[in-house]
Amino acid sequence: MVINCKEIAEKIITETKEKITELKNSGIYPKLAVVMVGDGDASKIYVRNKTEACKKAGIETEEYIYNENISQEELIRSIENLNSDPSITGILVQLPLPKHIDETEICKTISPSKDVDVFNPQNFGGFILGDKSLIPCTAYGIIKILEYKKISLSGKNCVVIGRSNIVGKPTALLLTNRDATVTLCHSKTKDLKDFCKNADIIVSATGVPKLITKDMVKSGAVVIDVGINRDENGKICGDVDFKNVEPICSYITPVPGGVGPVTVAMLTNNTADLAYFTLLNDKNIKRKF
Ligand code: NAD
Repeated sequence: MVINCKEIAEKIITETKEKITELKNSGIYPKLAVVMVGDGDASKIYVRNKTEACKKAGIETEEYIYNENISQEELIRSIENLNSDPSITGILVQLPLPKHIDETEICKTISPSKDVDVFNPQNFGGFILGDKSLIPCTAYGIIKILEYKKISLSGKNCVVIGRSNIVGKPTALLLTNRDATVTLCHSKTKDLKDFCKNADIIVSATGVPKLITKDMVKSGAVVIDVGINRDENGKICGDVDFKNVEPICSYITPVPGGVGPVTVAMLTNNTADLAYFTLLNDKNIKRKF
């Protein structure tokens, strides 16, 4: 069955809207600064989707679009200005950045209290240790999809393919914390098929079109396709050979319209939560990791 991820995303945005209304009623107006460098088509689409989702959730956005020749120092200065601007409650820097800019340095510059994507090492470290900080959007979105479909994780064999800090590693951690047995595979994994064949749940985040084929998937498995790629005809596709895998699995997420919209919805959720943490400084908020 193809999971209706757009419906899940809508539900998350509606829940966020309720939080935002509550915040506004307390005099707090969340505003997300969206920083983009250059005018790459993919980045433009992501930024548009994110600002539209924020609008639906009642979050104001302000775009800061810079020429791709901006120096690292100038970009850092611009983020520092946003850090100290009290009207800005969240900062999103759209990645990837041009090659001459060190992404790690930029991520370190975003104030932890405004870091909606959990890019700052302080926030990422807090997440790893399981404190009450935010959860990276895509990994959290994947968990929301599984929860929404009531797919139990305890004791399940999960294979996560891809070890990025943005998707693979945090997803593996969240699944482990929910009592799944997780294997984290990557480009140097030998016999990927053998690992996948034994998996109850496969999460693929590699950027390799049609990496996951029918012969790699156990009948009745759940397949979460995170990849956003272009096929040989230039059409958007995921990491999974959808046409042939879909008939044999119990659940599968489509691309486009799958993990992507849920990730964007989680961004609105994180923006609301950060506004809550920062402005109310409520120490009682607890989150189950
Ligand atoms: P990345 O691009 O930083 O790294 C790719 C990972 O895949 C690496 O860990 C690598 O070891 C692994 N890999 C590459 N080739 C492989 C192979 N043949 N077999 C096994 N593993 C292999 O990872 P990323 O930033 O997490 O992005 C991965 C994909 O997910 C991309 O297509 C990206 O566009 C997409 N993405 C989607 C969303 C979303 O919201 N849907 C969010 C983030 C990333």
